[in-house]
This record gives sequence, structure tokens and C-alpha cells, in this order.
Amino acid sequence: MVKIESLVPVNGVGFRTNNRTDNSHFATQVVHDLLIKIAGLWHDLHPDHPISIGQVSHKGGGEFPPHKQHKLGIEADMRPLSKDGQDLHLTFNSPEYSRDLTREFVKFLRSNANMHQVFFNDPKLIAEGLTHHAGGHDNHLHLWFEDEQASTPRVLRNFTKGDDVKRFQEKLIAAGFPIKGGADGKFGQNTEDAVRAFQTAHPPLTANGIADEATQSALGL
Ligand SMILES: [Zn+2]
Repeated sequence: MVKIESLVPVNGVGFRTNNRTDNSHFATQVVHDLLIKIAGLWHDLHPDHPISIGQVSHKGGGEFPPHKQHKLGIEADMRPLSKDGQDLHLTFNSPEYSRDLTREFVKFLRSNANMHQVFFNDPKLIAEGLTHHAGGHDNHLHLWFEDEQASTPRVLRNFTKGDDVKRFQEKLIAAGFPIKGGADGKFGQNTEDAVRAFQTAHPPLTANGIADEATQSALGL
């Protein structure tokens, strides 16, 4: 599991933060660095219009009510940009809202970072294919970054190979479920047998020899 321990500073070049509590602005290293980089590049274009970054994730991640997401340190909220550069509570209907700047920012963001999704309910930006609609997103953008290392683990099963298989095998062996042939990074019959033994010992996991997300997380991965 990738760490979610990189704290976005209160402010910096091209950005400030809002909705700040002691435990609301933690990101993965990758996303933290991206936010800082994007804000810095944006500052070069619009020094009078810093972005305002809202909540990200709790330290270490996990549930963050009332947000449905914000669990993995890869999503940050952001206020729409204002015409005069002030940090304001805005919706896309507010007279102070700058659609031009917000549109420009989203395009700029998409050309500088791989975005999984950007939620924001301005119907014009949605029509332009720049943002997507989501409940509760009239007054902020929800920036959902791609961070491959932080995405959920793939399902490991017979014939899967790779570093993740090796890590998984090492965990399984350390947990007391030996694999004939050891941790070789190849998921074969011996690994499948060990997985089934582990699953049998850990209800309610299904003893099917397939290392799905539940099985991997039961092993602490
Ligand atoms: Zn959000």
C-alpha cells in the first residue's frame, strides 16, 4: 500500500488551501508533488489568481466523511477561480465566478497531469467535455488524479507474473503459508495451493486460490 503522508502546505507558489483542519490535506507523494508543480506553473501564467486547494485525504487515508471518496490521497477539492483572484465561496452561478479562468485551468491541468476524472457541475464545461457532473459539486472541483502506485491491486491468480506476485508470495510465506519453490514472482499451482490454505484459515474469504483484493488486504497488502 502506498503511503499517504505528504502534507500539502498551507500556501505556496500559486496556491493556498481551504477547509483546512489538522488532518485534511494529506496526499500520496506523487499527487502532492503534482499539486505543487501545477500550482507553480499556473502561477507563471496567472500570478494574481492562485488556486485554492480544499480537502485531500486524512493521514494514511481511509474513510473521510462526508466525502464519498478522498480515501487514497489522490483526490483534491478546489474552489472555482474568481474573476478578481480572491479566494471566495463560489458556485458556477456566482457573479464573481470566472468561467474563462476555470476552463483554462482545467485544460492546463489536463495537459500537465493524468486525470482520472474532474468533477464540477458547470454545464458549459461539462458540454465541452472538460468536467463531469457529480452530486454536490456546484461549488468546487474535485480533481481525481491518476497515481498508478496508489490504485487498487490487481487480482493475482494462476499464470500471473510480476513484482506484485513476488511481494504477495513473500507476505504469504511470512504469514506461515509456505510455497513450494519460494517467492519467484510467478503465480503457479504451488502458490495457488498456499493461497487456498490461507483463505481456508481466514473466513469469510472464499477458498478459491485466487488472490483478489480482499485476500490481499487480509495479508496486509
Ligand atoms: Zn472531492
